[in-house]
Amino acid sequence: MNYNKKTIYDVDVKGKKVLLRCDFNVPQDKKTGEITSNKRIVAALPTIKYLLDNGAAVIACSHLGKPVATFEGYVKKQVEKGKNEADITREEWEKSLKKLTLAPVAKRLSELLGKDVIFASDTIGEDAKAKAAALQPGQIMLLENLRFAKGETKNDPAFAKALADMAELFVSDAFGTVHRAHASTAGVAAYLPAYSGLLVDKELSIMGKALDNPVRPFVAVLGGAKVSDKIAVINNLLEKADTIIIGGGMAYTFKKAQGFAIGKSLLEADRIDYAKDMIAKAEAKGVKFLLPVDNYCAAEFSADAEPVLAEGDIPEDLMGMDIGPKTQELFGAAVKGAGTIVWNGPMGVFEFEKFAGGTKAMAKALAESGAVTIVGGGDSASAVEKLGFADKITHISTGGGASLEFLEGKELPGVACLLDK
Ligand code: AMP
Repeated sequence: MNYNKKTIYDVDVKGKKVLLRCDFNVPQDKKTGEITSNKRIVAALPTIKYLLDNGAAVIACSHLGKPVATFEGYVKKQVEKGKNEADITREEWEKSLKKLTLAPVAKRLSELLGKDVIFASDTIGEDAKAKAAALQPGQIMLLENLRFAKGETKNDPAFAKALADMAELFVSDAFGTVHRAHASTAGVAAYLPAYSGLLVDKELSIMGKALDNPVRPFVAVLGGAKVSDKIAVINNLLEKADTIIIGGGMAYTFKKAQGFAIGKSLLEADRIDYAKDMIAKAEAKGVKFLLPVDNYCAAEFSADAEPVLAEGDIPEDLMGMDIGPKTQELFGAAVKGAGTIVWNGPMGVFEFEKFAGGTKAMAKALAESGAVTIVGGGDSASAVEKLGFADKITHISTGGGASLEFLEGKELPGVACLLDK
């Protein structure tokens, strides 16, 4: 996959209408709808400001949440959730959509930018078209939630074309959605010259380089709950990394494959053979494959459970909840001399304070390593942020699913569609 894509610096945006895909999928208070974190809006500001300062007219767009675009679809989903079909009303569906309007984002964006943000009450309807047509250089507008339109997630060419028709250039700056082939993330590039924004460019240049041309030794640290989620990542990294470290709940399937007792720990029995294969493959390739040698265990999956340290085998009545001190040392030493470290997935149940030690130690080891450090989105990113190490990490990816697919070496539709340099 080619990550070397043209950016907004490679095109003259002056006087051009730019369709800008942002990630304004902000967290909101369930009751009041208030935006509880500005982070994603703030992250979009550099690209927006660059475009506006350089004379573009910006038509920003994003999705928010998971609205169901049709009443029929809404009914189906509610029935799946166990609701009685006869009780589901159109009003209720409309209310569910209203909750996911991007209007509050337009307001917040306007406050942060210090200028008016024109809000369109639809995506490709009369209001959006008229406002886009009237938009002047230096002005910005925001379309309503893209997923209110049923063509968005289906990557309907007609919807993509209608979006594209409002603009002259497309800029992709929503890394969190580049693994999806939706109309606004990939489809529009069939009709407009497509460039990366500054956020996407940062992700591509740092992660792309780490995977294709890493400063060695290249150490990959994987954790989290499930082996099955990370199979493609391990496969891909076995071809690229010098050391693979496995922690978290997924480590126990590997320990089982090695013949250890794992008590009540997480196990994916149908992945044991795969785990054996991976260990053998790593050995054959000369890739160091490190697994926990001791674990903090618990009798039950609870924040109040008393940690019990087990070396090697885990007793029958216990489950592994976090890596132990010897493992912290082993993993820490492996990370110490690294040139590049990629980390995806916590080392234990870090949401429980008593079992957060391994994840903390890993975050600290990365922070102190002096290596190029990249933390995948999702849980490991929030762990690093929560534990206060974020400013010592080279790059924390803004996309959970997208960064995982990046590590899998998969072609990302929202990246593949951008113009090559
Ligand atoms: P993932 O989404 O696959 O990255 O997994 C993250 C989740 O894995 C977190 O919610 C952790 O609590 C969980 N996790 C990590 N270690 C363990 C473990 N030893 N047992 C059960 N769950 C774990």
